[in-house]
Amino acid sequence: RAKHEGRGVTRIFTSAMDRQLRDRRAMEHDLRSAVENGELYLEYQPQRHRDGKITGFEALVRWQHPLRGLVTPGEFIPVAEDSGSIAKIDEWVLMEACRQASSWDESVRIAVNVSAAQFRRENLEHQVRRALRESGLPPSRLELEITEGVLIEDISRASLTLKSLKSLGVMIALDDFGTGYSSLSYLQAFPLDRIKIDRSFVMSLASSAPSLAIVRAVIGLAHGFNVPVLAEGVETNEQLSILMRERCDDMQGYLIGHPHKAELYAEHMKAGAGVRLRTAS
Ligand code: C2E
Ligand code: MG
Ligand code: MG
Ligand code: MG
Repeated sequence: RAKHEGRGVTRIFTSAMDRQLRDRRAMEHDLRSAVENGELYLEYQPQRHRDGKITGFEALVRWQHPLRGLVTPGEFIPVAEDSGSIAKIDEWVLMEACRQASSWDESVRIAVNVSAAQFRRENLEHQVRRALRESGLPPSRLELEITEGVLIEDISRASLTLKSLKSLGVMIALDDFGTGYSSLSYLQAFPLDRIKIDRSFVMSLASSAPSLAIVRAVIGLAHGFNVPVLAEGVETNEQLSILMRERCDDMQGYLIGHPHKAELYAEHMKAGAGVRLRTAS
């Protein structure tokens, strides 16, 4: 009898795995035509300087699947990375983000996430150069967000890639800082223009002394290298006031603004507070 049950359990387990596998195959298949079918779109989340000005927006990709509905990047980017459709998606995101941002006010930057596969690809520099040329976006208004995982994979190669990107005049931000191997020596080894402290530290900032200590240390060291720090995932006024006190430079999170389609932020993108403040002073 025990043997019988065991086999039943195995069968249930196997069919659940079967279903998962079939679902993943279906997603891989649909992803291949998502770009051509116009199923991808970008949302933009504002980044606010401590002085109150909106200085940039991060582009976040979404997939509107005809049957599944809205699929988040956390669900489909890993599948796209494993199945090879990531290249086309990366290219579309970069082009579309630059195209959109080229019509914004000159004081507003666009931040674009670079996938691990995209960073490893030979032609990233070409891709960036082409997106800038075709959109007319000045390089200094494009910020590429990379994660530490891609840096430590091959340090000497990563350093060459970053140098070639920097020579185009674009900015480099280190995303999700604190979640991986997080060596503060990255600041010395790589030409970084910004450190983005991961949401997990900001989330526990008000309740956890170690999180506060880490945030304080990261800001202190980054500032020692003249690198500004942005905090991700700022949701409460308490978190904001701690970050202000700790001299964090920029904030991003639901408290400042959720990711939305560009139309919703048109006011801030076209003639934002930055313009008014600049002409007033
Ligand atoms: P990320 O680059 O660290 O982006 C921040 C994520 O945190 C976004 O999730 C954003 O919606 C979410 N977020 C922002 N503020 C808050 C907050 O106050 N509270 C909470 N709980 N969440 C907040 P999203 O859009 O689901 O993206 C997840 C990840 O997917 C991104 O993390 C990024 O790694 C990746 N991703 C997004 N768009 C792209 C893309 O175009 N290309 C690539 N390669 N990866 C992308
Ligand atoms: Mg990011
Ligand atoms: Mg991040
Ligand atoms: Mg994050």
